[in-house]
Amino acid sequence: MNISDKVNLMDFNKKSMSNFFVSIDEKPYRAAQVLQWIHHFGVTDFSEMSNLSKSLRAKLSEKATISLPEIATAQKSLDGTRKWLLRLADNNCIETVFIPEDTRGTLCISSQVGCALNCSFCSTGKQGFSRNLTTAEIIGQIFIAVRQLSSDQKLNEHQVTNVVMMGMGEPLLNFDNVISAMEIMMDDHGYGLSKRRVTLSTSGIVPQMEKLSALSDVSLAVSLHAPNNALRNILVPVNKKYPLEKLMPVCQNYFKNEPRRKITFEYVMLSGVNDQEKHAYELIDLLKNIPAKINLIPFNSIPNSDYICSSKETINRFRDILIREGGMMTVTRKTRGDDIDAACGQLAGKVFDRTRRQKQYRTGVSEILINQIGVKHDNKESVVPMDSDNLGE
Ligand code: SAH
Ligand code: SF4
Repeated sequence: MNISDKVNLMDFNKKSMSNFFVSIDEKPYRAAQVLQWIHHFGVTDFSEMSNLSKSLRAKLSEKATISLPEIATAQKSLDGTRKWLLRLADNNCIETVFIPEDTRGTLCISSQVGCALNCSFCSTGKQGFSRNLTTAEIIGQIFIAVRQLSSDQKLNEHQVTNVVMMGMGEPLLNFDNVISAMEIMMDDHGYGLSKRRVTLSTSGIVPQMEKLSALSDVSLAVSLHAPNNALRNILVPVNKKYPLEKLMPVCQNYFKNEPRRKITFEYVMLSGVNDQEKHAYELIDLLKNIPAKINLIPFNSIPNSDYICSSKETINRFRDILIREGGMMTVTRKTRGDDIDAACGQLAGKVFDRTRRQKQYRTGVSEILINQIGVKHDNKESVVPMDSDNLGE
């Protein structure tokens, strides 16, 4: 049997692993044992799986592999943030980022090679879209990060305690593989993370959000970025398909069986574009009936973009209006790993673009904004506030 005929066990959650064992005339309980060897103990060699019989180990070597992406480069930022560029079997590359903090370690993982949604401020969007990641490629990012971190003896920092699907791609457009990978993250024989420590971030794909709320209880972040359709259509073009009047009711009902849970709304701060006082008041009105917390994200610069991050004063003023006038739980996300292009929206990897977006790359975004909705930058040098952080719970 050649390697391409073998199944990759990294692709399996407990259910599909059980089905696999049944399909090779083995007992389904083997699934838990093998998941544990792989994800808990980091073992990728069947000969080391000592609670499996010799004949089962031989059978597995014949029928299966445990294959992972390769580390193409590993970088460490001055602030301790790490970024790995991972090369996939087809030579596409994706990026994974680890953000150590005092009380936790957050891993930001990718779900697609590139992204088709083309948000006007996002580097991944500018790369165009190549393909969905497999479950193996999604969970493989955690496998690799966990092992890389624990192999660094000098390290006196947290391991992976939280995972956020905020890397490259729109996770809800790769629904099945993402769900399966998140199941392994939360499985006691996998990574054993609680539902509050796994966060999926979406630009608002309404039908899949409904499906997700029925199927999974992970934490949810919604990339809002604008308080009205006119502006959101420009910043997050998928809003034309799923406008706020469709998105907001899903958000309102999302955690209806768990009334204490809140959706995190992400709001990138773009100078002169969406950061004015009137936008803050509009946002309060939009979210008034929704269990929400707001994450203001200072815009991280990307190549060939005219956007500028709002000034520190503007961000603080915006935040204060949300808190004082709207009583909204609001934090400003700390920018991490900017010196190695590891901050939100800067992940680009290496994408063999099938949508040819790189050729259509628009540079005159501000001009479009000024023409369409009459906004302009305040042109102040951007200063990023570092007061608090909240990537998940
Ligand atoms: N596609 C998903 C998840 C990946 S993007 C989504 O859009 O939610 C993760 C977060 O980074 C999103 O909130 C996204 O809007 C934000 N982001 C993208 N580009 C950014 C940039 N240049 N600066 C700051 N945040 C950015
Ligand atoms: Fe895609 Fe999210 Fe970037 Fe938009 S912000 S282009 S949805 S990765």
